[in-house]
Amino acid sequence: MNRLDDIPALRAEFPQLARRIHGKPLVYFDNANTAQKPQLVIDAVSDYYRLHNANVARAVHTLGEEATTLYEATRDKLARFVGARSREEVVFTRGTTEAVNLVAYSFLRPTLKPGDEILVSRMEHHANIVPWQLVAAETGAKVVPAPITASGELDVEGTVALMNPRTRLVGLVHVSNALGTVNPVAEIIAAAKARGIATLIDGSQAVPHFRVDVAALDCDFYVLTGHKLFAPTGTGALIARRALLDAMPPFMGGGEMIRKVSFEGTTFNDPPHKFEPGTPNIAGFIGLGAAIDWLQAIGMDAIAAREARLRDAMRAALAAVDGLRLVGDARARAAVFSFVVEGAHAHDLATLLDHDGIAVRSGHHCAHPTMQFFGVPATARASLAFYNTEDEIAVFIDALAKARRMLA
Ligand code: PMP
Repeated sequence: MNRLDDIPALRAEFPQLARRIHGKPLVYFDNANTAQKPQLVIDAVSDYYRLHNANVARAVHTLGEEATTLYEATRDKLARFVGARSREEVVFTRGTTEAVNLVAYSFLRPTLKPGDEILVSRMEHHANIVPWQLVAAETGAKVVPAPITASGELDVEGTVALMNPRTRLVGLVHVSNALGTVNPVAEIIAAAKARGIATLIDGSQAVPHFRVDVAALDCDFYVLTGHKLFAPTGTGALIARRALLDAMPPFMGGGEMIRKVSFEGTTFNDPPHKFEPGTPNIAGFIGLGAAIDWLQAIGMDAIAAREARLRDAMRAALAAVDGLRLVGDARARAAVFSFVVEGAHAHDLATLLDHDGIAVRSGHHCAHPTMQFFGVPATARASLAFYNTEDEIAVFIDALAKARRMLA
Protein backbone atom coordinates (compact mmCIF):
# COMPACT_ATOMS: atom_id res chain seq x y z
CA MET A 1 0.00 0.00 0.00
CA ASN A 2 1.21 3.47 -0.83
CA ARG A 3 1.13 6.08 1.92
CA LEU A 4 -1.02 8.24 -0.34
CA ASP A 5 -3.79 5.65 0.03
CA ASP A 6 -4.15 6.70 3.66
CA ILE A 7 -4.11 10.48 3.70
CA PRO A 8 -5.17 10.84 7.37
CA ALA A 9 -2.16 8.73 8.40
CA LEU A 10 0.11 10.67 6.07
CA ARG A 11 -1.17 13.99 7.46
CA ALA A 12 -0.53 12.70 10.97
CA GLU A 13 3.17 12.65 10.08
CA PHE A 14 3.04 16.48 9.98
CA PRO A 15 2.64 17.95 13.47
CA GLN A 16 1.76 21.36 12.01
CA LEU A 17 -1.23 20.03 10.10
CA ALA A 18 -2.95 19.19 13.40
CA ARG A 19 -2.86 22.82 14.52
CA ARG A 20 -5.96 24.92 14.95
CA ILE A 21 -5.84 28.55 13.87
CA HIS A 22 -8.41 30.93 15.38
CA GLY A 23 -10.19 27.83 16.62
CA LYS A 24 -10.45 26.24 13.16
CA PRO A 25 -8.45 23.33 11.74
CA LEU A 26 -5.51 24.66 9.75
CA VAL A 27 -5.94 24.47 5.97
CA TYR A 28 -2.41 25.02 4.73
CA PHE A 29 -2.57 26.31 1.15
CA ASP A 30 0.75 28.16 1.15
CA ASN A 31 3.01 25.35 0.04
CA ALA A 32 4.60 27.36 -2.78
CA ASN A 33 5.89 29.70 -0.11
CA THR A 34 7.27 26.96 2.06
CA ALA A 35 6.16 23.38 2.70
CA GLN A 36 5.46 21.85 6.11
CA LYS A 37 7.95 19.32 7.48
CA PRO A 38 7.20 15.70 8.36
CA GLN A 39 8.19 14.47 11.82
CA LEU A 40 10.88 12.32 10.24
CA VAL A 41 12.66 15.42 8.93
CA ILE A 42 12.31 17.17 12.29
CA ASP A 43 13.73 14.04 13.96
CA ALA A 44 16.67 13.88 11.56
CA VAL A 45 17.56 17.47 12.47
CA SER A 46 17.19 16.96 16.20
CA ASP A 47 19.03 13.60 16.11
CA TYR A 48 21.99 15.33 14.54
CA TYR A 49 22.13 17.84 17.40
CA ARG A 50 21.33 15.23 20.05
CA LEU A 51 23.67 12.50 18.88
CA HIS A 52 26.09 13.40 16.10
CA ASN A 53 26.84 17.12 16.43
CA ALA A 54 30.32 17.80 15.01
CA ASN A 55 31.71 19.81 12.14
CA VAL A 56 31.97 18.16 8.72
CA ALA A 57 35.10 17.25 6.78
CA ARG A 58 37.46 18.50 9.50
CA ALA A 59 37.62 16.03 12.32
CA VAL A 60 38.84 12.44 12.31
CA HIS A 61 37.02 11.64 15.53
CA THR A 62 33.93 9.46 15.47
CA LEU A 63 31.37 12.25 15.75
CA GLY A 64 33.07 14.18 12.95
CA GLU A 65 32.94 11.11 10.74
CA GLU A 66 29.29 10.47 11.57
CA ALA A 67 28.34 14.06 10.81
CA THR A 68 30.27 14.04 7.54
CA THR A 69 28.80 10.72 6.44
CA LEU A 70 25.24 11.87 7.13
CA TYR A 71 25.81 15.25 5.49
CA GLU A 72 27.53 13.88 2.39
CA ALA A 73 24.87 11.16 2.03
CA THR A 74 22.44 13.95 1.18
CA ARG A 75 24.58 14.83 -1.82
CA ASP A 76 24.17 11.28 -3.17
CA LYS A 77 20.46 11.29 -2.41
CA LEU A 78 19.89 14.63 -4.10
CA ALA A 79 22.00 13.62 -7.11
CA ARG A 80 19.82 10.53 -7.59
CA PHE A 81 16.60 12.41 -6.82
CA VAL A 82 17.09 14.99 -9.59
CA GLY A 83 19.04 12.81 -12.03
CA ALA A 84 22.34 14.67 -11.73
CA ARG A 85 25.14 13.10 -13.76
CA SER A 86 27.31 12.73 -10.64
CA ARG A 87 27.51 13.77 -6.99
CA GLU A 88 30.30 16.20 -7.89
CA GLU A 89 27.77 18.19 -9.91
CA VAL A 90 25.70 18.92 -6.80
CA VAL A 91 26.82 22.12 -5.07
CA PHE A 92 25.09 22.79 -1.78
CA THR A 93 23.80 26.34 -1.34
CA ARG A 94 21.52 28.13 1.09
CA GLY A 95 18.74 27.89 -1.47
CA THR A 96 17.76 28.89 -4.98
CA THR A 97 18.69 32.53 -4.45
CA GLU A 98 22.28 31.74 -3.56
CA ALA A 99 22.53 29.21 -6.39
CA VAL A 100 21.50 31.77 -9.03
CA ASN A 101 23.89 34.34 -7.58
CA LEU A 102 26.69 31.77 -7.69
CA VAL A 103 26.09 31.25 -11.42
CA ALA A 104 25.72 34.99 -12.08
CA TYR A 105 28.96 35.90 -10.32
CA SER A 106 31.17 32.87 -11.00
CA PHE A 107 30.00 31.68 -14.39
CA LEU A 108 28.73 34.75 -16.20
CA ARG A 109 30.34 37.87 -14.80
CA PRO A 110 33.98 37.03 -15.60
CA THR A 111 33.26 36.94 -19.33
CA LEU A 112 30.24 39.26 -19.61
CA LYS A 113 30.79 42.12 -22.08
CA PRO A 114 28.91 45.31 -22.94
CA GLY A 115 25.97 44.48 -25.21
CA ASP A 116 25.74 40.85 -24.02
CA GLU A 117 22.22 39.70 -23.20
CA ILE A 118 20.69 37.50 -20.51
CA LEU A 119 17.25 36.30 -21.53
CA VAL A 120 14.76 35.55 -18.74
CA SER A 121 11.00 35.17 -18.94
CA ARG A 122 8.50 37.70 -17.66
CA MET A 123 7.25 35.13 -15.16
CA GLU A 124 10.50 34.75 -13.21
CA HIS A 125 10.84 35.06 -9.46
CA HIS A 126 13.05 38.02 -8.51
CA ALA A 127 15.75 35.46 -7.62
CA ASN A 128 16.10 34.74 -11.35
CA ILE A 129 16.08 38.41 -12.40
CA VAL A 130 17.95 40.55 -9.90
CA PRO A 131 21.30 38.63 -9.78
CA TRP A 132 21.48 39.00 -13.58
CA GLN A 133 20.67 42.70 -13.34
CA LEU A 134 23.49 43.15 -10.82
CA VAL A 135 26.15 41.57 -13.03
CA ALA A 136 24.70 43.26 -16.12
CA ALA A 137 24.94 46.68 -14.47
CA GLU A 138 28.62 46.07 -13.69
CA THR A 139 29.53 44.94 -17.19
CA GLY A 140 27.28 46.84 -19.59
CA ALA A 141 25.26 43.75 -20.44
CA LYS A 142 21.46 43.77 -20.35
CA VAL A 143 18.65 41.59 -19.11
CA VAL A 144 16.05 40.95 -21.82
CA PRO A 145 12.52 39.81 -20.88
CA ALA A 146 11.10 36.85 -22.80
CA PRO A 147 7.39 37.17 -23.62
CA ILE A 148 4.48 35.39 -21.97
CA THR A 149 0.86 35.17 -23.07
CA ALA A 150 -2.36 36.44 -21.47
CA SER A 151 -3.03 32.95 -20.13
CA GLY A 152 0.35 32.93 -18.40
CA GLU A 153 2.18 30.59 -20.76
CA LEU A 154 5.65 31.15 -22.11
CA ASP A 155 5.55 32.43 -25.69
CA VAL A 156 7.98 29.81 -26.95
CA GLU A 157 8.30 31.17 -30.48
CA GLY A 158 8.77 34.71 -29.19
CA THR A 159 11.37 33.51 -26.69
CA VAL A 160 13.37 31.57 -29.27
CA ALA A 161 13.18 34.57 -31.64
CA LEU A 162 14.98 36.66 -28.99
CA MET A 163 17.93 34.25 -28.82
CA ASN A 164 20.79 35.78 -30.79
CA PRO A 165 24.60 35.76 -30.91
CA ARG A 166 24.75 38.26 -28.02
CA THR A 167 22.60 36.03 -25.76
CA ARG A 168 24.86 34.50 -23.12
CA LEU A 169 22.35 32.73 -20.92
CA VAL A 170 18.68 31.83 -20.87
CA GLY A 171 17.04 31.61 -17.44
CA LEU A 172 13.63 30.02 -17.09
CA VAL A 173 11.46 28.96 -14.20
CA HIS A 174 10.38 25.29 -14.43
CA VAL A 175 7.10 25.94 -12.56
CA SER A 176 6.04 29.54 -11.92
CA ASN A 177 5.39 30.32 -8.25
CA ALA A 178 3.20 33.28 -9.23
CA LEU A 179 1.06 31.62 -11.93
CA GLY A 180 1.43 27.87 -11.52
CA THR A 181 2.51 27.49 -15.15
CA VAL A 182 4.63 24.43 -15.98
CA ASN A 183 7.05 25.60 -18.66
CA PRO A 184 8.28 23.57 -21.66
CA VAL A 185 11.83 23.77 -20.35
CA ALA A 186 13.21 20.94 -22.51
CA GLU A 187 12.18 22.78 -25.67
CA ILE A 188 13.80 26.04 -24.56
CA ILE A 189 16.98 24.26 -23.39
CA ALA A 190 17.28 22.50 -26.78
CA ALA A 191 16.77 25.77 -28.68
CA ALA A 192 19.37 27.57 -26.53
CA LYS A 193 21.84 24.71 -26.77
CA ALA A 194 21.57 24.65 -30.57
CA ARG A 195 22.69 28.30 -30.49
CA GLY A 196 25.50 27.77 -27.99
CA ILE A 197 23.66 29.65 -25.22
CA ALA A 198 23.95 28.55 -21.58
CA THR A 199 20.77 27.61 -19.70
CA LEU A 200 19.64 27.88 -16.10
CA ILE A 201 16.38 26.35 -14.92
CA ASP A 202 14.80 27.44 -11.65
CA GLY A 203 13.35 24.22 -10.28
CA SER A 204 12.23 25.60 -6.89
CA GLN A 205 8.57 24.81 -7.54
CA ALA A 206 9.13 21.74 -9.71
CA VAL A 207 11.11 19.28 -7.59
CA PRO A 208 8.49 19.08 -4.81
CA HIS A 209 5.77 18.09 -7.26
CA PHE A 210 7.04 15.79 -10.00
CA ARG A 211 10.05 13.76 -11.09
CA VAL A 212 12.84 15.86 -12.55
CA ASP A 213 15.72 14.44 -14.57
CA VAL A 214 18.39 17.09 -14.93
CA ALA A 215 20.64 14.95 -17.14
CA ALA A 216 17.77 14.29 -19.56
CA LEU A 217 16.82 17.99 -19.60
CA ASP A 218 20.45 18.66 -20.51
CA CYS A 219 20.52 22.18 -19.04
CA ASP A 220 23.79 23.68 -17.84
CA PHE A 221 22.44 24.76 -14.45
CA TYR A 222 19.45 23.60 -12.40
CA VAL A 223 18.70 25.28 -9.07
CA LEU A 224 16.45 24.30 -6.20
CA THR A 225 15.63 25.14 -2.61
CA GLY A 226 15.15 22.68 0.26
CA HIS A 227 12.41 24.33 2.31
CA LYS A 228 9.81 23.88 -0.43
CA LEU A 229 10.85 20.23 -0.56
CA PHE A 230 9.62 19.52 3.00
CA ALA A 231 13.16 20.12 4.32
CA PRO A 232 14.69 22.82 6.53
CA THR A 233 15.28 26.39 5.41
CA GLY A 234 18.79 27.42 4.46
CA THR A 235 19.33 24.39 2.24
CA GLY A 236 19.38 24.14 -1.53
CA ALA A 237 21.53 23.24 -4.46
CA LEU A 238 23.03 24.17 -7.76
CA ILE A 239 23.27 21.21 -10.15
CA ALA A 240 25.80 22.10 -12.85
CA ARG A 241 27.90 20.47 -15.54
CA ARG A 242 31.21 19.36 -14.08
CA ALA A 243 33.22 20.98 -16.87
CA LEU A 244 31.62 24.34 -16.13
CA LEU A 245 32.21 23.99 -12.38
CA ASP A 246 35.86 23.11 -13.10
CA ALA A 247 36.29 26.27 -15.14
CA MET A 248 34.40 28.64 -12.84
CA PRO A 249 36.29 30.64 -10.20
CA PRO A 250 35.11 30.34 -6.59
CA PHE A 251 32.11 32.42 -5.56
CA MET A 252 33.15 32.97 -1.94
CA GLY A 253 36.44 32.28 -0.21
CA GLY A 254 37.16 30.68 3.12
CA GLY A 255 37.78 27.33 4.74
CA GLU A 256 36.95 24.02 3.05
CA MET A 257 36.99 25.47 -0.47
CA ILE A 258 40.79 25.49 -0.64
CA ARG A 259 43.50 22.89 -1.28
CA LYS A 260 46.44 24.94 -0.02
CA VAL A 261 46.60 28.47 1.27
CA SER A 262 49.73 30.58 1.38
CA PHE A 263 50.36 34.29 1.11
CA GLU A 264 52.15 33.59 -2.17
CA GLY A 265 48.99 32.10 -3.65
CA THR A 266 46.11 29.79 -2.86
CA THR A 267 44.89 26.74 -4.74
CA PHE A 268 41.30 25.61 -4.63
CA ASN A 269 39.52 22.39 -3.84
CA ASP A 270 37.72 20.41 -6.55
CA PRO A 271 34.01 20.99 -7.20
CA PRO A 272 31.65 20.88 -5.46
CA HIS A 273 33.73 21.84 -2.39
CA LYS A 274 35.33 24.73 -4.27
CA PHE A 275 31.95 26.46 -3.99
CA GLU A 276 31.16 25.54 -0.39
CA PRO A 277 33.24 27.69 1.95
CA GLY A 278 32.70 27.66 5.68
CA THR A 279 30.60 25.52 7.97
CA PRO A 280 27.34 24.69 6.22
CA ASN A 281 23.82 24.10 7.55
CA ILE A 282 24.75 20.53 8.48
CA ALA A 283 21.52 19.74 10.35
CA GLY A 284 19.47 21.23 7.54
CA PHE A 285 21.12 19.14 4.84
CA ILE A 286 20.73 15.99 6.94
CA GLY A 287 17.05 16.94 7.13
CA LEU A 288 16.99 17.40 3.36
CA GLY A 289 18.35 13.87 2.95
CA ALA A 290 15.58 12.54 5.18
CA ALA A 291 12.97 14.47 3.19
CA ILE A 292 14.25 13.00 -0.08
CA ASP A 293 14.22 9.43 1.28
CA TRP A 294 10.68 9.99 2.49
CA LEU A 295 9.50 11.48 -0.85
CA GLN A 296 11.05 8.61 -2.75
CA ALA A 297 9.37 6.05 -0.53
CA ILE A 298 6.04 7.62 -1.48
CA GLY A 299 7.08 8.03 -5.11
CA MET A 300 7.16 11.24 -7.12
CA ASP A 301 4.89 9.80 -9.81
CA ALA A 302 2.23 8.94 -7.23
CA ILE A 303 2.61 12.42 -5.74
CA ALA A 304 2.22 14.03 -9.16
CA ALA A 305 -0.90 11.97 -9.89
CA ARG A 306 -2.53 12.93 -6.60
CA GLU A 307 -1.67 16.60 -7.05
CA ALA A 308 -3.11 16.54 -10.58
CA ARG A 309 -6.45 15.39 -9.11
CA LEU A 310 -6.32 18.12 -6.44
CA ARG A 311 -5.39 20.67 -9.10
CA ASP A 312 -8.34 19.72 -11.31
CA ALA A 313 -10.75 19.79 -8.38
CA MET A 314 -9.44 23.20 -7.32
CA ARG A 315 -9.58 24.58 -10.85
CA ALA A 316 -13.21 23.48 -11.24
CA ALA A 317 -14.18 24.85 -7.81
CA LEU A 318 -12.53 28.22 -8.45
CA ALA A 319 -14.29 28.52 -11.83
CA ALA A 320 -17.62 28.46 -10.00
CA VAL A 321 -16.76 31.38 -7.66
CA ASP A 322 -18.52 34.60 -8.72
CA GLY A 323 -16.26 37.56 -9.39
CA LEU A 324 -13.05 35.52 -9.20
CA ARG A 325 -10.48 35.82 -11.96
CA LEU A 326 -7.52 33.50 -12.24
CA VAL A 327 -4.26 35.30 -12.93
CA GLY A 328 -2.58 32.82 -15.23
CA ASP A 329 -4.50 29.83 -16.48
CA ALA A 330 -1.97 27.81 -18.43
CA ARG A 331 -2.92 24.44 -19.94
CA ALA A 332 0.05 22.83 -18.22
CA ARG A 333 -0.13 23.93 -14.61
CA ALA A 334 0.65 22.89 -11.08
CA ALA A 335 -1.80 23.04 -8.16
CA VAL A 336 -0.84 26.70 -7.64
CA PHE A 337 -3.59 29.26 -8.24
CA SER A 338 -3.20 33.03 -8.28
CA PHE A 339 -6.42 34.97 -8.36
CA VAL A 340 -8.11 38.29 -7.80
CA VAL A 341 -11.65 38.78 -6.54
CA GLU A 342 -13.74 41.75 -7.67
CA GLY A 343 -14.01 44.40 -4.97
CA ALA A 344 -11.64 42.66 -2.56
CA HIS A 345 -7.98 43.42 -1.97
CA ALA A 346 -5.81 40.31 -1.88
CA HIS A 347 -4.47 41.12 1.61
CA ASP A 348 -8.00 41.59 2.99
CA LEU A 349 -9.02 38.28 1.47
CA ALA A 350 -6.02 36.49 2.97
CA THR A 351 -6.73 38.06 6.38
CA LEU A 352 -10.36 36.92 6.34
CA LEU A 353 -9.35 33.44 5.17
CA ASP A 354 -6.85 33.27 8.04
CA HIS A 355 -9.71 33.88 10.46
CA ASP A 356 -11.18 30.67 9.09
CA GLY A 357 -7.88 28.83 9.62
CA ILE A 358 -6.85 28.99 5.96
CA ALA A 359 -3.31 29.99 5.03
CA VAL A 360 -2.93 31.51 1.56
CA ARG A 361 -0.36 34.03 0.44
CA SER A 362 -1.25 37.47 -0.81
CA GLY A 363 1.03 39.96 -2.51
CA HIS A 364 3.31 40.09 -5.52
CA HIS A 365 4.95 36.70 -4.86
CA CYS A 366 8.43 38.16 -5.56
CA ALA A 367 7.37 38.52 -9.18
CA HIS A 368 6.81 42.25 -9.80
CA PRO A 369 7.23 41.97 -13.59
CA THR A 370 4.60 39.20 -13.71
CA MET A 371 2.14 41.34 -11.74
CA GLN A 372 2.94 44.32 -14.00
CA PHE A 373 2.22 42.18 -17.07
CA PHE A 374 -1.20 41.22 -15.70
CA GLY A 375 -1.90 44.78 -14.51
CA VAL A 376 -2.54 43.79 -10.90
CA PRO A 377 -0.68 45.03 -7.81
CA ALA A 378 -1.16 41.74 -5.98
CA THR A 379 -2.99 38.43 -6.07
CA ALA A 380 -4.12 35.91 -3.54
CA ARG A 381 -2.46 32.55 -4.09
CA ALA A 382 -3.54 29.11 -2.98
CA SER A 383 -0.85 26.48 -3.48
CA LEU A 384 -1.48 22.84 -2.64
CA ALA A 385 0.68 19.88 -1.76
CA PHE A 386 -0.18 16.20 -1.80
CA TYR A 387 -1.14 16.27 1.90
CA ASN A 388 -4.03 18.61 1.09
CA THR A 389 -7.49 17.18 0.55
CA GLU A 390 -10.69 17.75 -1.41
CA ASP A 391 -12.42 18.48 1.91
CA GLU A 392 -10.00 21.32 2.47
CA ILE A 393 -10.79 22.66 -1.00
CA ALA A 394 -14.49 22.70 -0.05
CA VAL A 395 -13.72 24.53 3.23
CA PHE A 396 -11.61 27.03 1.30
CA ILE A 397 -14.29 27.70 -1.32
CA ASP A 398 -16.95 28.28 1.38
CA ALA A 399 -14.64 30.63 3.26
CA LEU A 400 -13.87 32.48 0.03
CA ALA A 401 -17.57 33.03 -0.66
CA LYS A 402 -18.05 34.25 2.92
CA ALA A 403 -15.05 36.61 2.67
CA ARG A 404 -16.35 37.99 -0.59
CA ARG A 405 -19.75 38.75 0.95
CA MET A 406 -18.07 40.51 3.88
CA LEU A 407 -15.87 42.63 1.62
CA ALA A 408 -18.60 43.48 -0.93
N1 PMP B 1 12.31 30.78 -7.50
C1 PMP B 1 11.04 30.44 -7.30
C2 PMP B 1 10.22 30.01 -8.48
C3 PMP B 1 10.50 30.47 -6.03
O1 PMP B 1 9.22 30.13 -5.84
C4 PMP B 1 11.32 30.87 -4.94
C5 PMP B 1 10.76 30.94 -3.53
N2 PMP B 1 9.53 31.59 -3.44
C6 PMP B 1 12.64 31.21 -5.19
C7 PMP B 1 13.10 31.15 -6.48
C8 PMP B 1 13.57 31.64 -4.09
O2 PMP B 1 13.83 30.58 -3.24
P1 PMP B 1 14.68 30.82 -1.91
O3 PMP B 1 14.05 32.03 -1.23
O4 PMP B 1 14.47 29.59 -1.11
O5 PMP B 1 16.08 31.06 -2.30
